[in-house]
Amino acid sequence: MIVMKFGGTSVATHNNIQRIKGIIEQTKEPCLVVVSAISKATDQLLEIANSSLSNQYQPLVLALKQRHFDLIDSLFQAEHVDRIKGHVSEHVDQLNDICHSIFVIQERSNKILARIQSFGELMSSYILREYFTQEGIDIEWMDSRKMIRANGKYERAVVDSDITTELMSSIDHNRNYIAGGFVASNENGETTLLGRGGSDYSAALYASGIKASKLEIWSDVSGMQNANPRVVKEAGPIREMSYKEAFEMAFFGAKVLYPPTIKPVMENGIPLYLKNTFHPEQDGTYISESGGQDESKIKGVSSLPDISIINISGVGLAKEKGTARRVFQALEEANVNVILITQSCSEQSICLGLSAEDAEAAVESINAAFRKEISNGMLNEVEISHDQCIIAVIGDSMKNTVGLSGKMFSALGKNGINIRAIAQGASERNISLVVDKKDESKAINIIHQKFFQKALKKVHLYIAGVGNVGDQFLQVLKKQRKLLLDQNKIDIKIVGVANSSKMLHEPYGLTDHQIDMLREEGDDYTNFDQFIDNAIQDNYYNSIFIDNTASQIVSDRYKKALEASISVVACNKIACSSSYPSYIDLINTAREKNCDFKYETAVGAALPIIKTIQDIMLSGDHINRIQAVLSGSLNFIFNKYDTSLPFADIVRQAKDEGYTEPNPLLDLGGTDVMRKILILSREAGYIKEMSDVSFNGFLPESVANASDNDIMFSEMLKHEAHFAAIYNKANENGNRLKVVAELNHGNLSVELREVSSESPFFHLEGKDNIVAMHTERYINEPIIIKGAGAGAEITASGVFSDVMKVINV
Ligand code: ADP
Ligand code: ASP
Ligand code: MG
Repeated sequence: MIVMKFGGTSVATHNNIQRIKGIIEQTKEPCLVVVSAISKATDQLLEIANSSLSNQYQPLVLALKQRHFDLIDSLFQAEHVDRIKGHVSEHVDQLNDICHSIFVIQERSNKILARIQSFGELMSSYILREYFTQEGIDIEWMDSRKMIRANGKYERAVVDSDITTELMSSIDHNRNYIAGGFVASNENGETTLLGRGGSDYSAALYASGIKASKLEIWSDVSGMQNANPRVVKEAGPIREMSYKEAFEMAFFGAKVLYPPTIKPVMENGIPLYLKNTFHPEQDGTYISESGGQDESKIKGVSSLPDISIINISGVGLAKEKGTARRVFQALEEANVNVILITQSCSEQSICLGLSAEDAEAAVESINAAFRKEISNGMLNEVEISHDQCIIAVIGDSMKNTVGLSGKMFSALGKNGINIRAIAQGASERNISLVVDKKDESKAINIIHQKFFQKALKKVHLYIAGVGNVGDQFLQVLKKQRKLLLDQNKIDIKIVGVANSSKMLHEPYGLTDHQIDMLREEGDDYTNFDQFIDNAIQDNYYNSIFIDNTASQIVSDRYKKALEASISVVACNKIACSSSYPSYIDLINTAREKNCDFKYETAVGAALPIIKTIQDIMLSGDHINRIQAVLSGSLNFIFNKYDTSLPFADIVRQAKDEGYTEPNPLLDLGGTDVMRKILILSREAGYIKEMSDVSFNGFLPESVANASDNDIMFSEMLKHEAHFAAIYNKANENGNRLKVVAELNHGNLSVELREVSSESPFFHLEGKDNIVAMHTERYINEPIIIKGAGAGAEITASGVFSDVMKVINV
């Protein structure tokens, strides 16, 4: 004989009940079917009980009755409907009477609450029995209150297994039965309950009572998943697991199985299957003593929300024998269940994880028990932290695997999750961590990704800027996204995108079309903080904030992002060339928060200049001198200018082709190059400010001071002779003009120079950059990096490569 339990969703509609019928008909052995109340009925009944005190229950009772009547209408042939409704109405009348009495005597005891909740399973089991009979299945209704004997509390009664087994001996193993789960009765015949989700337990008690060949629990998921599927989209089924693993998963929040269910089947070696009513063809989970040959070390990750931790500390803990025992005694007296315990080696503190609702009682009881020790300073007042959760990583084979915890902690740390306490049971089947409740979903997803989606890496991007570089970056992303997913198993989600006035945010990832429509359909924003706040609120792991702008408003937000462990990738130079303390603060914040701050493209587009300097520094070398042409735009301009066209025309062309900043004066006026050499000097370990960079300007005053581009161009035209003179002089000397930035033993300068044909800078073509570095180790010949150093496309590819570095590809 087998026992099958069907949960609330499975019994809630005509279609689903038909599926159950199909499943029963496929079964070769006689079966004992246990059913829950129709979905949410128990919640509705509790609400009815709660509103009885204020006499507000009638409409709620009516709604519940109607749900059952609708189900009856959909299931039964017309001639049966009245009879079935009549029977259900009797239960509803009783329910109304009970609610009325609560209102009259203004008391709603646990005993009454148990009675009220029992109606759900009584009605559902009755309806299903009648339906199966109508469909020709011979099945007998059984009252679980007569079969399961419990004592103790009404809400979560303790089962007397001896009496229960005896009561179940009357069950005929050759017949089919159906019974409501969840309900039992005490020795006085009063209705008691087995706890929320308790129908699973009822089924296990039946299975053990009749020594069933197996127990099947049918719900709306295909077995136990390696994480709660509502929290982790990529959760997958666990094919096989041991009773103990299943218990740990269930205890730590895997709602698909009510934890007490395990004990009765484990004691009797009854195989337990978790199956999906909606996909009976899928394997589901098989739970047995051995747990199968599955080699995966970690079976699953679960979590318990609503945890508080209390910390008991003081010298008395180490000095006085029996203090810890007294702590637990005090907790027992307060009827408090401890979920997690950690104790420091010095024995000066004990940290306990408890259900939040027990925390106050626990603290009161411990403070009372240790009043004397607290007043004489042997023990400190008990400290309490609310809004915590416990994340449990579960697997029988974890004990044989070195380094699991390390891997887990580093992944959590890299994403800014603070671990408050850690406990590893002696069985090493479970490693439990206490983290802030707000990080629950993030932590589970990180652990799941680390251990179950090794191949797949998810990244969440928040992108500011859709101009020149930004647009190209999005193009690269569009092109690469599918390839990265297919070939490198990197799943890139663009969660946020913003330009200077609009933003879009979609926690599940924006589509290409949505991004294209930013200007038309984006939300207006008044404060760019909103953009970062979204990212912080999403609290996704592997989040990267990308700055493809040249805006100070955007660069001012890096700190906020980094503080939330969101990595920053920027081509924007402003942050790194702002004051030294704020630059170094960003670098330190990234380090502290275990995330990345990457800005390779701030100097020389995609050329690996900053990376090379960082490597030189890491290797213990020292950079004495840097000489560089760092402005692709200026190089382009001075390479093109030969007086055949006015200087202004060449500048306009450079601007139109996207080689200059939107305001070309930032290039021509030196600011851009000064910022770049400043950044390089800082990377080389020099503590420098913008004011330390000398600039020998080459623009006539009226050009340099032009208030907009039009004025600048017209002033330039007026001063064409000035530019021609500079060019002609160099030309006569056989030299070329280059704007050279220099770091020379700590001195920083930028100037327009004539370079001779012997200089490596002489042949620098187009918009190329060149950097020559003299270090302690490279004394005679400098290290030279040369290549395209400007242009939206190449810069975007550099930003993309920084993003890849953050993802660690
Ligand atoms: P039933 O009403 O059939 O008893 P439950 O709602 O009690 O079903 O349990 C099934 C639900 O448990 C699933 O819909 C799922 O959302 C939730 N759940 C939480 N954690 C897990 C997990 N690790 N594996 C499977 N389901 C889980
Ligand atoms: N109906 C009860 C509940 O909702 C028992 C169960 O469904 O397992 O908690
Ligand atoms: Mg359940």
